[in-house]
Amino acid sequence: MLIDNHGRNINYLRLAVTDSCNLRCFYCMPENGIKYVNRKDLLTFEEMERLVRVFSELGVSKLRITGGEPFVRKGIMEFLEKASSIQKLEEINITTNGTFTADKVGELERLGIKSINLSLDSLDKKRFFDITRRDEFDNVMKTFDQLLQSTIKVKINMVVMDGRNIDDLLPMVELTKNKQVDVRFIEEMPFNGTEGQGNATIWPASKILSHIEQKYDLEKIVDPPNSTSTNYQPVGHTGNIGIIAAYTRSFCGSCNRIRLTPQGILRTCLYSNLGVNFRDLMRDGASDLEVGDQLKR
Ligand code: SAM
Ligand code: SF4
Repeated sequence: MLIDNHGRNINYLRLAVTDSCNLRCFYCMPENGIKYVNRKDLLTFEEMERLVRVFSELGVSKLRITGGEPFVRKGIMEFLEKASSIQKLEEINITTNGTFTADKVGELERLGIKSINLSLDSLDKKRFFDITRRDEFDNVMKTFDQLLQSTIKVKINMVVMDGRNIDDLLPMVELTKNKQVDVRFIEEMPFNGTEGQGNATIWPASKILSHIEQKYDLEKIVDPPNSTSTNYQPVGHTGNIGIIAAYTRSFCGSCNRIRLTPQGILRTCLYSNLGVNFRDLMRDGASDLEVGDQLKR
């Protein structure tokens, strides 16, 4: 097991397979002028597979694929096929915007992908466009329908933003009534995009909760270990809801994560700019043992 010097068991790797994306969610990416990383500076899928395998030998048992948008990178399905055969890896989960995913759901199911977090900030086509600046709502909904028909567990991630999607809060809870879907409401973090400042202070988790409680009876349910969300069961609903206080609360005490950027930099904390470059280590010829030792360090 990988136990860090705060006694936390680090068993969860979040792997960003690309920095590119086909959407321009205003809280995440600027509309124009994005400087994507040069291809040669990105980890190759072979390098990613090697890191996941070495890390899994040391105790990383959960992998989340994220980005950018994972499905914009060519070769992602072949990579998932290989990753799914890494023996010590117990689960693979994916976070996606769902725009390219509908026709891949069957294959993802076959590969044993455990869960997919679908980012969907609005159930209204126009509001979706205003937030993402792209006309992809119908494709995302197609993915949602496919996922509901599959064995893959599906969660919706909705970033809550004043003046943008507050009217979606209650319809999102309603979605959990008869559908096998969980919804996670996320406070907006102010550091990603260029325009998204201050929404979490206007809509903190406490306010999101009281807004929902005006219409729904919520029962507190036990939060899974290392959960970043505080979870509730709307009485009589099939799915549950959770609120992620990404900005107003700290999860550090129960954090079990490490993150790999598309360039292969390993970060032990979302809020840190420090990191260790595993890409250069591998390209300089490090053995698996040396890669593993670096992770332990
Ligand atoms: N493109 C994929 C997607 O949108 O699901 C995966 C990458 S995206 C960066 C992962 C998640 O981070 C999404 O659910 C997105 O809504 C969330 N996110 C991005 N910027 C955020 C911010 N400033 N505050 C809160 N959540 C954010
Ligand atoms: Fe793309 Fe995801 Fe960022 Fe939206 S949140 S711009 S879909 S990476």
